[in-house]
Amino acid sequence: MKKIWSIFTPPCPVCGKDEALPRFKKQGASGKEFHLVRCVSCGLEFIHPQPTTEELNECYQSDYFTKRTDRGYDNYFSPEIRSEIERVIALNLKGLSFETFEFSMPGKKRSLDIGCAAGYFVNYIASRGWDAQGIEVSKPCVSFARDKLGLNVIDADYLSTEYTEKFDLITLWATIEHLPDPVSVLKKIFSNLRENGMLYISTCRTGGFFQKKAADSWRYYNFPEHLYFFSLPNLKKILRENGFTIEKRFTYGSGYGKPKTLIRSIADFAARHFGMGDMMVLAARKNRQKGRSLK
Ligand SMILES: [Zn+2]
Repeated sequence: MKKIWSIFTPPCPVCGKDEALPRFKKQGASGKEFHLVRCVSCGLEFIHPQPTTEELNECYQSDYFTKRTDRGYDNYFSPEIRSEIERVIALNLKGLSFETFEFSMPGKKRSLDIGCAAGYFVNYIASRGWDAQGIEVSKPCVSFARDKLGLNVIDADYLSTEYTEKFDLITLWATIEHLPDPVSVLKKIFSNLRENGMLYISTCRTGGFFQKKAADSWRYYNFPEHLYFFSLPNLKKILRENGFTIEKRFTYGSGYGKPKTLIRSIADFAARHFGMGDMMVLAARKNRQKGRSLK
């Protein structure tokens, strides 16, 4: 029986409790060991201790996006990776009924992609006539987005950046798991959205069939760049507590078997169609007159 740890810094961002059970430990790229712990109250998993700002900055140096690591980016700027990311973006937008949302918002539309990496989503939405902005802490990514794609992307930390205009759409594609203070980011997103504006959020998901099957060798246990590992109930809870109404959600991705094999295709199909995926995508609306909300 493992002993429960008292974790004071930080307390669990989902439920505020400070007791967690250790699951296993793993070395980060620098050789430092991090524990994966699980909140005894809500089941949120997170790494302990949380990395320092310097350690996080170290993670996102230039080779994070260009050198293959267990995160799996061979070269984020290559045409192959770009087309794979664009394929996933298209599938996510379809699953979220993006075109219906887009059509429903009047006038010139404004979007912000937080943690936009090389800007592929910013590029897509700009091509549809939106005033599309991005924010990213990786300097090589920002250079690529600005110089190669001509996009409105800034090199900054979102919580330290003031926006005077409101956005119709804010996106956090596979970003919240990297954020040291996810709740403050959700609160700020809520204030930066206009009424009826939408947050699209995707992140790796614990508690699904394929994540449980992979156990400790799950493909998204990358320390220390991934700080928090949410289940669907965890994510729904913090979105609702911060004022959002959840309108759409689905899961995708299995990580099962080798890429580009029949077994992977079948597993991915099951993940997408039977809610078994180890990634989850949600559409959450800022709507003070509470609309129809999913359970
Ligand atoms: Zn908790």
